[in-house]
Amino acid sequence: MVTMSKSKVAVIKCDTYDYDQVYAAVEAGLNLLGGMANYVTEGEKILIKPNVLIGSNPEKCVCTHPSVFRAVGTILKNMRVTVSYGDSSGFGKSEANMKRAGLKQVADELDIVLADFNKGTVVSHKEALLNKRFIVANGVLESDGLISLPKLKTHGLTRFTGAVKNQFGCIPGLNKGQFHVKLANPFDFATMLVDLNTLLRPRLYIMDGIMAMEGNGPRTGRPKKLGVLLFSSDPVALDSVACRIINLNPEYVPTSKLGEKAGLGTYHPDNIEVIGEDIEPLIDKSFEVVRKPVIPVSSGWLRTFIRNQLCPKPTIDESICTNCGKCVKYCPVKPKAVNWHRGDKIRPPTYKYEQCIRCYCCQELCPEGAIFLRESLPGRIFNR
Ligand code: SF4
Ligand code: SF4
Repeated sequence: MVTMSKSKVAVIKCDTYDYDQVYAAVEAGLNLLGGMANYVTEGEKILIKPNVLIGSNPEKCVCTHPSVFRAVGTILKNMRVTVSYGDSSGFGKSEANMKRAGLKQVADELDIVLADFNKGTVVSHKEALLNKRFIVANGVLESDGLISLPKLKTHGLTRFTGAVKNQFGCIPGLNKGQFHVKLANPFDFATMLVDLNTLLRPRLYIMDGIMAMEGNGPRTGRPKKLGVLLFSSDPVALDSVACRIINLNPEYVPTSKLGEKAGLGTYHPDNIEVIGEDIEPLIDKSFEVVRKPVIPVSSGWLRTFIRNQLCPKPTIDESICTNCGKCVKYCPVKPKAVNWHRGDKIRPPTYKYEQCIRCYCCQELCPEGAIFLRESLPGRIFNR
């Protein structure tokens, strides 16, 4: 009988972003996996891919923290590899976003170059489950390998954003929005994310879960201390362990089963070896996340009807909205499902839910946290 080796996920406690402690924790996690030398070789070009959804003060917990970035960057530089970094944010100029996130300052100090995430090249992916063609940022393609630094946060579409989802930022600019329109069913979208990971195959994932984000993530949720860093070369297993820590069934994250199907990794606890900390004492049952399966609906009138009945509706809190118009600008459907339907821009935008594909880009990118996901009564009953 052939015995499959388990996927290893290293879990290290770290209660603070104090750099010395973060460095020690990153080193300890890497040592449990055999050291960074297991993943990179002297002379290679390695790209660090943090999560920079949008440039944001590190205290807001939207982005991978600069201390984690600094620790990984320092270890790589000491190994004499050429290091670059980058992410394609939701909007805005890459350099300005990196500066607001506190990453540019670290990169400049360590002589880490900002890679080109503005332009991309078409790449085919014959083995993909669904999406056989991607436009990938040139900065990614110019590197020999990726080290992915996801941030542990909640997410309206996928429940949780972690290791698998982090690579979505390797698709430059507005090309990302088209996937929401083309793949309106969240499971199709998740399959595309898995395909992207089997194409790019980051060598290692180091998740920043020291301060996570709960509630209305991934941009305007609440920071929540979990005090952990997670390390693995298997992104599905890493996400599975992170889900267990926030008391979320990994099967509720659409990329889990699909990732296993594609051979990207495993989400089954029996097939994962957690090394380092015992995760039981780290489990936070109070972490605010939607603990329900994602509803698989896409287009067509019946599906649209079902979606309108069962899927949470993005809703604007007019007392918070500043009428900035970003939700309108980044809504990917035509005609726009959120727009100035009242005919002026003095009052907040409104929704036409029959046009809305529930991609939640508006909620994700609203700078004020004015958009919430409101569950309908049928949705509450169906999803109990
Ligand atoms: S993005 Fe947010 S603040 Fe801006 S108009 Fe839309 S709801 Fe209002
Ligand atoms: S209104 Fe919001 S959730 Fe609906 S399609 Fe537009 S961006 Fe997506």
